[in-house]
Amino acid sequence: MTRVPVRDDLQALEGYHSPQVSVRVRLNTNESPEPPPAAWRDALAAELSRLDWHRYPDRAATDLREAIGALHGVTAEQVFAANGSNEVLQTLLLTFAGPGRRVVTFEPTYQLHGHIARLTGAEVVEGERRADFTVDAAEANELLARAEPTVTFLCSPNNPTGLVEPEATVRQVLAEVPGLLVVDEAYAQFAPWSALDLVDEERPLVVTRTFSKTWSMAAARLGYLVGPAWLVAELEKVALPYHLDAAKQAAGRLALRFVAEMETRVKQVVAERERIAARLRTLPLETWPSGANFVLFRPTGRDGRDVWQALLDRDVLIRDCSSWPRLSGCLRVTVGTPAENDAFLAALAEVLAP
Ligand code: PMP
Repeated sequence: MTRVPVRDDLQALEGYHSPQVSVRVRLNTNESPEPPPAAWRDALAAELSRLDWHRYPDRAATDLREAIGALHGVTAEQVFAANGSNEVLQTLLLTFAGPGRRVVTFEPTYQLHGHIARLTGAEVVEGERRADFTVDAAEANELLARAEPTVTFLCSPNNPTGLVEPEATVRQVLAEVPGLLVVDEAYAQFAPWSALDLVDEERPLVVTRTFSKTWSMAAARLGYLVGPAWLVAELEKVALPYHLDAAKQAAGRLALRFVAEMETRVKQVVAERERIAARLRTLPLETWPSGANFVLFRPTGRDGRDVWQALLDRDVLIRDCSSWPRLSGCLRVTVGTPAENDAFLAALAEVLAP
């Protein structure tokens, strides 16, 4: 059969890969190590049995957006929800990027920012970070003035480095950004500050969040952004009708009744992250301070891929970033349960032993 050629601009594009391997200790995709609270599962099951399954869901997801708005002290009109924050990013880029427009990222960062931007036909201009992976705001603003992007991404804490962007950097970039500034805060609950307080109707700023990490709901695929109401209204024109199914809307709305439980989990993850970071500092490797639920490190004098494989041989799967641009030799471990973290640290110490 003759294969229909894909769009010219997509021919050189690679897909996004994150291997799903069956192992005892899986610390490669930054999920929550704990399932959601049992009371949430029960409440959801009860609600699912009452759903009008023969009807389309509430297209505007009003109750869910109101609940998210109440959580952050904004109105439902300032909240856009979609199937994972990836779909939030896709909708943003379909609306504000596209052919003939530019999108700026600061590398290394979350690969999907550039990837989805390219899928929309936009040109991606990659800004560089300093050697310690922080963004130099003055240099960033020079690049933005030259590139004139319609969308600029920051990611705080940044994936895969874990670094939190200082508030001063975000403010400086926001003050001069030519188009829209997107701050991807998929991991913000684990960090000391959030750009959410900077969102208002006058600023070209949106902050994206997800239920996949803190909320232990990666399986549900639910994310959202907080931004100006005019912008949310534009996104709603681009999103498919009824894109958020009724079960997911209920799942998200009910999750927001369990804020205290989630905050406890975040504290546990942060404590475990600090324990991992402290132990890593005693091993022959370079590591970076993380404000997220993962830690990046680079084994000294060892091939990153070999170390990754040796861990996998010991039933521990982490993320191999060693061949990614600007991250040569680096590996990223997600914070798991205390037992999983012990297994990872023991395996790593064994693998790196002289
Ligand atoms: N942004 C960042 C920085 C991420 O690391 C991830 C998950 N890997 C996402 C967005 C997407 O999360 P989701 O689509 O599960 O909400």
